[in-house]
Amino acid sequence: MTASKRPPGVSAASAFRMRVSASAISEWIEGSSDMAVIQATCPHCGIQNNAFSIAHTRPWAARQNIITSDDLMKKETKRVSASSYCISCNNPVGFVLSKTDMVSTLMNFNATIESLITKNSGIEALGYAVESVHPANVPHRIPQHLPPHVAKAFDQGEQNFKFNNPDAAIAMYAKALEAGLRWRFPGIKGMLNEMIGTLKTKGLLPPEIGDWAHQVRLVRKDAVHDGDELEADDMEAGRNFADAVLRYTITLPTDVALRRGLPAESILPDWTPPSGGE
Ligand SMILES: [Zn+2]
Repeated sequence: MTASKRPPGVSAASAFRMRVSASAISEWIEGSSDMAVIQATCPHCGIQNNAFSIAHTRPWAARQNIITSDDLMKKETKRVSASSYCISCNNPVGFVLSKTDMVSTLMNFNATIESLITKNSGIEALGYAVESVHPANVPHRIPQHLPPHVAKAFDQGEQNFKFNNPDAAIAMYAKALEAGLRWRFPGIKGMLNEMIGTLKTKGLLPPEIGDWAHQVRLVRKDAVHDGDELEADDMEAGRNFADAVLRYTITLPTDVALRRGLPAESILPDWTPPSGGE
């Protein structure tokens, strides 16, 4: 692992710097309060336009023993991992940054990497852009074939689930479930728990789902009003219950209808096939 062959114009010190460990860099920046700042939305708490100070950096090219001037043209070589944390929720957040402008020499490139932890400035001014944020946004889990107003409410539940807002998430899952059942079974009466009971009695929901409903605060009459704090467990149970009922009552029958060559709306009770020529 000796840097015996260096490209012309690259000093031993520069080649060494490319291999320097992240821990060495972190030791070096201790006590430094000037760090470049990334403006981004926190992937944990969802706060927007948050300012993330860069604490540590790691050039991707540090894996290579020797960086050539050809390498400097490659996108991967011009990537830098940067670590930070959210000033609002304290959770760790990582970024992959990419140098957007040309870097002519390794020494210049190193200087820009150094500037990420020494210059009190936005990264754009230093010629960097955010390529990705970690943890990455997890795609929302929405049952298929929901009518748009139901899918929208469920999506808002997912958004609040991701940002760990149990009250808002449960309210939106309940809204999605109620709207979904009213759409699927027009004329059904009562609050959510009464609707579930009716569907169970009529055999439109399996008894297991009807029994499960008693354990889920999404459905219980006292759900959001009984004074107890709603917890992450309640949110997850509500999510799973709403997901299961909507899949059973809408997603699955719609799938079956489509496979039989019928339109999606044929699952609705007042749907009649268009009259043919017979
Ligand atoms: Zn946050």
